[in-house]
Amino acid sequence: MRPLIATIRLEHLRHNYRLTRSIHGDKMLAVLKANAYGHGAVRCARALEDIADGFAVACLEEALELRAAGIASPILLLEGVFEAEELKAVDEHGLWMAVTSEQQLRMVEQSAPARPFNVWLMLDSGMHREGFVPASYHAAWHRLEACGKVEKISKMTHFARADEPEVAMTFSQLEAFDAAVRGLPAGDESVANSAGILCHARAQRNWGRVGIALYGVTPLPAGFEQGAELRPVMRFSSRIFGVRELAAGEPIGYGDNFVTDRPTRVGLVACGYADGYPRRASSGSPVLIDGQRSRLIGRVSMDMLTVDITDLPAAGIGSEVELWGDAVSVNEVAAHAGTIGYEPLCNVKRARFAYC
Ligand SMILES: *Cc1c(COP(=O)(O)O)cnc(C)c1O
Repeated sequence: MRPLIATIRLEHLRHNYRLTRSIHGDKMLAVLKANAYGHGAVRCARALEDIADGFAVACLEEALELRAAGIASPILLLEGVFEAEELKAVDEHGLWMAVTSEQQLRMVEQSAPARPFNVWLMLDSGMHREGFVPASYHAAWHRLEACGKVEKISKMTHFARADEPEVAMTFSQLEAFDAAVRGLPAGDESVANSAGILCHARAQRNWGRVGIALYGVTPLPAGFEQGAELRPVMRFSSRIFGVRELAAGEPIGYGDNFVTDRPTRVGLVACGYADGYPRRASSGSPVLIDGQRSRLIGRVSMDMLTVDITDLPAAGIGSEVELWGDAVSVNEVAAHAGTIGYEPLCNVKRARFAYC
C-alpha cells in the first residue's frame, strides 16, 4: 500500500478547542469548513460534538454532510445561502445562517419557513469582502426583525488582518463594529477568528469562531508566543521508496529547478502535489526523515518528491518522512511555497486517513 498517511489526532483537536475556548471565554464555534481544513469534517464533528457549543461551515452542502452523519449540534453557514431554494433545507435542518448581502436579506424576507430562522447579520467593518456597510447595518437589522421570519439576530464581523498583531486595522474594525451596532437591541456578538482569539483580548465577545487554531496551527507569524500550547492535529507522513546516488552537478526531476552541488544521496518519497504537498515548495523546504531534519530538493512531482539524505547515512528505503506535523510545521512548508498553512492542509487528499 502507498505509505502516505494523514494521521489525525482527535485528542489534539479536543485540546485545541478547549484551549481556545478558555482563552476567548463564553461560547465557541468550531469551524469545520473545507472538510475541516482537510482533516475530515464528519470525524472532527463527532470528536467535538460533546464539548463544542456549535459548528460553522461555509455552505449548505457542508452542513448537510454533517446532518446526514447524525450531527445534531447547531451549525452556522458562514456564507449564508446562494439561492432562495436552499432556505428550505436551512429550515428543515434547523441551520443557522449568515446574512451578508441585500440579496440574502431579500431571500429571507420572501421566505416561508416553518420555524423562524436564526440569523447572523454580517457587518463589513473594513475587510470589504462581504457584509453590510455600517451605514446600512441598522436598516438591515430592522428589516430582519420586522419580516417575521427570524427569531434571533446575532451580530457578526470578520477581521482582515488579525494575524498581523501589530497592525492597527483590527482595532479600527472593532471600533467600526461597536459604532455600527450601537443603538440596536442587545444580542449575541461574534467577531474573533483564530488570530483574534489568540492575540486580541478586546475582540472577545459572546461567540468566537475558531478555525486554523482548532487544528493546532497558529495563524500568527513565527516568533509570537500566543498559540504555543496548540497541538498540531494532522501529521502528514510517508516513506522513502527509492534511493539514488548522484555526482555533483547533476539535475534532479523536472526542469532546471535543482542541480546537486556535491555528491548527493537522494531519497524518493511517496507524496506529490496531487496529494496536497505544494508544488511551489522550493528546494530547502524542511522534512523530517527518521526523526532528523533535512530538506526537499528538486521540483515536487505529481506523485512523488525528492529529499536530501546525504547527511543521513542510516536513511534509506522504508525511512519514515514527516512532511508536516510535529517537528515540521505546515506553516514552515507553506512559507517555502509562498502561501499560508491553511492551503496545504485544505489540499490534502489521496492519503490514507488514520484517526486516533
Ligand atoms: C474561516 C472563517 C473563520 C475561521 O478563521 P480562522 O482564521 O481559520 O480561525 C471565522 N469566521 C469566518 C467568517 C470565516 O470565514
